[in-house]
Amino acid sequence: LPIQENVPLAPMTTLGIGGAARYFLPARDEQEVAAGVHWAGEQGLPLFVLGGGSNIVVADEGFPGLVLRMELRGLNLVEEPDGIIALEAAAGEDWDQAVELAVSRNLAGIECLSGIPGTVGGTPVQNVGAYGQEVSETLVWVRALDRRSGCVVTLSNADCRFSYRQSIFNTAQPERYVVLAVTYRLRRNGEPALGYADLQKELAGTPTPSLAQVRDAVRRIRERKAMLLVPGDPDGHSAGSFFKNPVVSRAHFERIQGTAPGPVPHYPAGRDETQVKLAAAWLIENAGFRKGCTRGRVGISSKHTLALVNRGGASARELLALAREIQDGVNQKFGIELRPEPIFVGFSGV
Ligand SMILES: Cc1cc2nc3c(=O)[nH]c(=O)nc-3n(C[C@H](O)[C@H](O)[C@H](O)COP(=O)(O)OP(=O)(O)OC[C@H]3O[C@@H](n4cnc5c(N)ncnc54)[C@H](O)[C@@H]3O)c2cc1C
Repeated sequence: LPIQENVPLAPMTTLGIGGAARYFLPARDEQEVAAGVHWAGEQGLPLFVLGGGSNIVVADEGFPGLVLRMELRGLNLVEEPDGIIALEAAAGEDWDQAVELAVSRNLAGIECLSGIPGTVGGTPVQNVGAYGQEVSETLVWVRALDRRSGCVVTLSNADCRFSYRQSIFNTAQPERYVVLAVTYRLRRNGEPALGYADLQKELAGTPTPSLAQVRDAVRRIRERKAMLLVPGDPDGHSAGSFFKNPVVSRAHFERIQGTAPGPVPHYPAGRDETQVKLAAAWLIENAGFRKGCTRGRVGISSKHTLALVNRGGASARELLALAREIQDGVNQKFGIELRPEPIFVGFSGV
């Protein structure tokens, strides 16, 4: 196996933070994935599966085991009856290129997920979502290596138990599965999803936008918030939203609303009407943190309150100190503990 040693991980992440992988293996096919998993098991080493590195914070000490980077390629469109097309995508494919392919063939279902960095294999992990769409709405199958049995398995949408930013891959069964490929079911010439207010505003002059126009609009909005990776953008070194939007009881929300100077943004939290989803960005701003604020080499993005950024040469320690300061501020003011969205790699006791 072409295993490398002491490979810096920071350049493989969008934050650009963190130390080296003790061992590193780029996996280009399913055999290499299986061999890497087997090797780490034999050596008694922890394993981390790396996609595009867009949703992780790597510790300054690096990762003491094997980092397996998913480089499996392949994008296939398969015709099914009734105008349905299955997009079969290998885990290492760039997600936005998969979306671009779908939109260019006028296939609806993932257009609002344009411009999200990372790989196809990363999308089921936190049920990637944006602008009113989530991959769980179109995902039909996940092909995965089950590290427990050593077998390749096929998981259905129901097996993945998707909810807001959650699946079995990041809750009930973390680290059990290595996602090898994902199949999404798309609709030929389907209508774009236009449920999201920001998107409707952006498309106000276009009464019946095409999928391509929706994709462009989403990318424009994302670019303004530095949520599209554009080389040279000083706000570009982030992991996207650093905090999840918290879900609280309706009574808790009403208490916050009762003392707030204006309306508190809130959304339904699934089917449970006793719960409300709040906007983490609003909570952070109203706890006194501003866009663009800096703490040494880290800060809050000047374009998006939810994104913490590396302003150049930052350490994971500095980033986590800022995250803690924000969490404490929000907790003191609103009694809510914000949960980080990214995955922490190589930290003990976080
Ligand atoms: C600028 C920016 C904007 C973003 N906007 C959004 C957004 O709008 N919506 C959203 O939901 N997310 C967003 N994100 C977060 C991120 O893009 C997604 O979570 C993405 O799906 C992560 O994929 P990745 O391949 O980079 O995963 P990584 O960051 O490499 O890994 C993340 C987690 O997934 C696991 N993983 C990755 N690949 C596999 C695999 N093949 N098998 C098993 N586990 C795997 C890793 O082990 C890790 O636990 C944004 C990030 C950035 C930097």
